[in-house]
Amino acid sequence: MNDLTAAASFDLKPGTTAFLSKRRHQLLINNEWIDPPNLDRIDTLDPATGEVLGDIPEAGKAEIEQAVSAARAALTSDAWHGLTGSARSRLLWRMADLMEENIDELSELETLDQGKPLGVGRWAEIPGSVEQFRFFAGQCNRLEGTQIPTSIAYQPPGKRIHAYTRKEPVGVVAAIVPWNSPIIMAAMKLAPALAAGCTVILKPAEDTSLTALRLGELAIEAGFPPGVINILTGRGEKTGKALAKHPGIDKVAFTGSTGVGKQILKYARHNLKRVTLELGGKSPVIVMGDADMEAAIGGAANSIFFNAGQVCVAGSRIYAHRSVYDQLVEGVSAYADGLKLGHGLDQTTQCGPLVSKKQQARVLGYINQGKEDGAEVVTGGAALDDPGSFVQPTVVANVAPEMSIVREEIFGPVCVVTPFDENDEVLALANDSDYGLAASIWTESLSTAHHMAEDLQAGTVWINSHSMYDATLPIGGLKQSGWGRESGQQAVENYLETKTVCAVL
Ligand code: NAD
Repeated sequence: MNDLTAAASFDLKPGTTAFLSKRRHQLLINNEWIDPPNLDRIDTLDPATGEVLGDIPEAGKAEIEQAVSAARAALTSDAWHGLTGSARSRLLWRMADLMEENIDELSELETLDQGKPLGVGRWAEIPGSVEQFRFFAGQCNRLEGTQIPTSIAYQPPGKRIHAYTRKEPVGVVAAIVPWNSPIIMAAMKLAPALAAGCTVILKPAEDTSLTALRLGELAIEAGFPPGVINILTGRGEKTGKALAKHPGIDKVAFTGSTGVGKQILKYARHNLKRVTLELGGKSPVIVMGDADMEAAIGGAANSIFFNAGQVCVAGSRIYAHRSVYDQLVEGVSAYADGLKLGHGLDQTTQCGPLVSKKQQARVLGYINQGKEDGAEVVTGGAALDDPGSFVQPTVVANVAPEMSIVREEIFGPVCVVTPFDENDEVLALANDSDYGLAASIWTESLSTAHHMAEDLQAGTVWINSHSMYDATLPIGGLKQSGWGRESGQQAVENYLETKTVCAVL
């Protein structure tokens, strides 16, 4: 292993250094850290430098059995199932407090492991994760059923019917999350699942497992009983697949690519697991002729270059009214050219690397295919000559709807820009996608904005903004962007079953 030269050259918090100095990370099962010697190990890299930060074990059959047994036992234990809603709420709130107390350290770890600029974690994603725990802490003692007045015709004479529903935890949840925003993806599953009284086996992405493991330490400190939160690292094809197939798992809560989401459905069918899927996107940004162009240019650019475009709702297809098209292309390109690329721990960095060399190659492949198909790279379009996996922020014009660069999710800092003349035309273009995750509309006309919001095929529509997230706002996709919604009051329902009780009294 290399020395942590890049990490060491920044002034890290003592907690970050202490966590990194372990180098050899472990699995969390039943509140114990285990490290069986026979397991494959996966290097975890700093994508800005290629340096090895440490390694993680790949959980195999035996560890999965152990974790499932621990989670099943916890599900009905007095220590967890026996808690009142209020007591569960206090645990979630304590977890939020601990995350907040350790926010600088968590941000540094997330940047080192994933590459994102420090501020993205520190000011957006980790506060957002804390809010997930606080919001769902507030739901723990609100899991109410209903009393139902029935119309049963054959009611026995002289008897009464008392019917009601109970909300019960769905059971053991496998939470499988991607690498683009590791902490918040984990929090969006852990918080509602725990609020519902479920137990969880969290499988972080193999490229970015460090902060999940640190969350495991905080969960023990917060006082979650053994078996309630278990963390198994490993590759998707091995650990993830085995979890999704395991008969002892009741539900898979998956965030990731649409292709893997479809595989999850196949694995889950064996015991008809409950499945929620938060999948890919190719979100349109629509700039009308009457838009506030300063806001629209900044908003469109930020929608695709934030977190180097590794955002499920990234505004990767920009449609601009012909009257403002040149201004928009020029403005977004200037924004792209002005972004400072670098190590995320450098406070002046505005755009970090992609998560891995593999993702860098994938993004460059789409750009090259676009060029072969006749698209014009207005700015960017290349990797940096650097050991890190950087790709220049890229704007592509002269595209046609059938090109792969327009249709497929790239998950990098690459947007395509297309002019339009009529509202119906842009709606048809925006909706011509297998995906339906999000969209934004930029206009000064209230009427146009709300007509478009109704007609756009997307789980979320933003007006004069993009990527506004909150624990209170449901997020999820139409079409092949997924099943179900995370965040918001209904999200806890993803982790509950409804039991009907009907008594003759
Ligand atoms: P991915 O589908 O490759 O992997 C996601 C997770 O699934 C990882 O933990 C991975 O190890 C695991 N996995 C991979 N193959 C598996 C298999 N065969 N069985 C079980 N698990 C498996 O996705 P990614 O490349 O890590 O993340 C990028 C994708 O995530 C993009 O498509 C992005 O749009 C999507 N995403 C969606 C949302 C949303 O809310 N809709 C949010 C973030 C990311």
